[in-house]
Amino acid sequence: MEQQTERRMTRHRQVILDEIRKSTGHPTASEVYEMVRKSLPRISLGTVYRNLQILSESGILRTLETGGSKRRFDWNLSGHNHILCVRCGRVDDVGYDLKPDVEETIGSICGYKVTGYLLAFKGLCPKCRNMR
Ligand SMILES: [Zn+2]
Ligand SMILES: [Zn+2]
Repeated sequence: MEQQTERRMTRHRQVILDEIRKSTGHPTASEVYEMVRKSLPRISLGTVYRNLQILSESGILRTLETGGSKRRFDWNLSGHNHILCVRCGRVDDVGYDLKPDVEETIGSICGYKVTGYLLAFKGLCPKCRNMR
């Protein structure tokens, strides 16, 4: 019984991960729930939450700390920055690298040992900027 539960968990987690990898955006937990429900109609929002938690704790998913008011998930673990739409809340990747020595430069200016940064750009996405 225990083993069966574990197997179901693993399968749920795999479906969740697959759906997130298919999506181009950075879905929130409830968006993931909507996507996953198509293949797992009986899954609960709580199960989705729990699996997202496990996936981000184990470093398989990244949680966006700068993705606006709702927590968003990213499967792309490589160092990249984000831009978010202040109107619809959509989050995209920024295909532009900051100077590689940015942390070192900031550290020497502020006297900190810099261990990372929180950075997000914001604005109106292409769809919203064409809306009146
Ligand atoms: Zn928008
Ligand atoms: Zn991203």
